[in-house]
Amino acid sequence: MKCPACRGKMEQGTTTLPYELGRGKLIVVQDVPALVCIQCGEVFIESVTLKKVETLLNTVEKSGMTMGFLEYRAAA
Ligand SMILES: [Zn+2]
Repeated sequence: MKCPACRGKMEQGTTTLPYELGRGKLIVVQDVPALVCIQCGEVFIESVTLKKVETLLNTVEKSGMTMGFLEYRAAA
C-alpha cells in the first residue's frame, strides 16, 4: 500500500506504542508489526494488530501492572 500522507512506499516493519491507561499508568508495547513509510516515517497499523494490542492491554490491566514494557509477540 501507499503512504496516506505522502504517497511514498510503505514497508513492513515494527513500531513502539505507548499507552496511558489512566492516571500514572503507562504501558509501552514494543515490536508491534506495522507498515512504515520509507519517505516520511508515517506508521500504519492494521486493525487486526490493534485488536491484539488491546487484548494484551486488557490482560495487563487485570494483572495490576501500572508501568512497563510489553512485547507484542506475547499476545500473538
Ligand atoms: Zn509517507
